[in-house]
Amino acid sequence: MFVNAKEMLQKAAKGKYAVAQININNLEWTRAVLTIAEELKSPVILGVTGGAAKWMGGFKTAADMARAMDASLGVTVPVAIHLDHGTYDQCLACVEAGFTSIMFDGSHFPFDENVAKTTEMIGIAHKNGMTIEAEVGAIGGEEDGVVGSGEVADPAECKAIADLGVDFLAAGIGNIHGVYPENWTGLDFAVLEKIAGLTGGMPLVLHGGTGIPADMIKKAISLGVAKINVNTECQLSFAAATRKYIEDGKDKVGKGFDPRKLLQPGFEAIRQTVREKFELFGSVGKA
Ligand SMILES: [Zn+2]
Repeated sequence: MFVNAKEMLQKAAKGKYAVAQININNLEWTRAVLTIAEELKSPVILGVTGGAAKWMGGFKTAADMARAMDASLGVTVPVAIHLDHGTYDQCLACVEAGFTSIMFDGSHFPFDENVAKTTEMIGIAHKNGMTIEAEVGAIGGEEDGVVGSGEVADPAECKAIADLGVDFLAAGIGNIHGVYPENWTGLDFAVLEKIAGLTGGMPLVLHGGTGIPADMIKKAISLGVAKINVNTECQLSFAAATRKYIEDGKDKVGKGFDPRKLLQPGFEAIRQTVREKFELFGSVGKA
């Protein structure tokens, strides 16, 4: 069931669990996520980056493929298809392509410019029945490049962006995209509490969900995080399962070279990773 992400995230924020945004890369990825979401009766957000859309043949291909699959498989749980870290032009392309949700990432602009562009994009998204996520940039910039800690947002700026009317808000609390370094300093819960207090019930988004310890995830959810983005972890589990299949020489046995056999272990590995995320985030049975 294709929907925007408003209701599922408001319910999650109230119910103190988080909906997973699982980024998709191809048809197999999409089918893995949709089937496990349906099996576990969990709402889910399919994340699509500009790069992934390009790989799949464009935003419209990605949206139409996911929508058609959702219908063909008879998926009943709420599913949103969401642009991840969109530029201004990518947001407009996703409105055309039939996405149900967008993220406008103006975090790298000076704050006033982020406000102006986010405001414009909120109008466009809402006019088209879509939800919109915005992102607040890091405090200053002098800490850029320092290994061990991710970006941390200014709570007052978070409130200002939230008050523009975004549906959910991404704010750095020390989280990092990709694989976390050995010396990572962890999530900054004091800042998260301040942001949650100032934005009063706004579903907050935690990016970089791969490799954050379970206890930190649970604490973040208890403090107002209602959407957690997972991308790298599915890539790692897909790659590991595919590597094992090849290294075991299974592609050289019988018709083991058949792409439907070759991709099966990776497909199952994604399903297992997503299952673990739904369980950890508390979204099982919440559809
Ligand atoms: Zn992100």
